[in-house]
Amino acid sequence: MKIIAVGKNYAKHAKEMNSDIPSEPVIFLKPETALLKNNNPLYYPDFTKLLHYETELIFRICKIGKNINKKFAHRYYDKIGIGIDFTARDIQNSQKQKGLPWELAKAFDNSAAISEFVDISEYKNINNINFSLDINKKTVQTGNSNDMIFKIDEIISFVSKYFTLKIGDIIFTGTPEGVGELKIGDKLSAKIEEKELLTCEIK
Ligand code: MG
Repeated sequence: MKIIAVGKNYAKHAKEMNSDIPSEPVIFLKPETALLKNNNPLYYPDFTKLLHYETELIFRICKIGKNINKKFAHRYYDKIGIGIDFTARDIQNSQKQKGLPWELAKAFDNSAAISEFVDISEYKNINNINFSLDINKKTVQTGNSNDMIFKIDEIISFVSKYFTLKIGDIIFTGTPEGVGELKIGDKLSAKIEEKELLTCEIK
């Protein structure tokens, strides 16, 4: 399986990163070894001094597909969850300055925390879903899928031009504003519509 992630997909987050609003989706991949499941802790990686959280809605692909028309994209995912796109921001910043790829900052082991998945049928409108992250019981990020620059169906259509989507692939749809630094001992709790789906302690 693979993890496909979208960068700069919320205007206010692009702004806080001093980035322009992208005219097409900004895409990067994480390998399967990036998965962090079952509310396991994240051990603070020794190669970074600036570990950031990015809270994102995630979708699970349920059908193999290539060159998917946006109109039919909804047939290709059946489950939604919440994830944390852990980012070594210091490495990302230096890679960006040098014009180099982001994988060292974004695709390292356990950098993709994922919750359990919920059937999308549980939600009336996939493009109006509230989600949030609390750290040590304080809310640090809130978002709504309606604020995505590229909605899930557009993302599926776009990425499937380049990558065949396979059952079990996961799409990280980008973070809203409010990303920030993590410290050892932090306890994260991510929710969709007030329901806690993911917890993670930084150790
Ligand atoms: Mg992200």
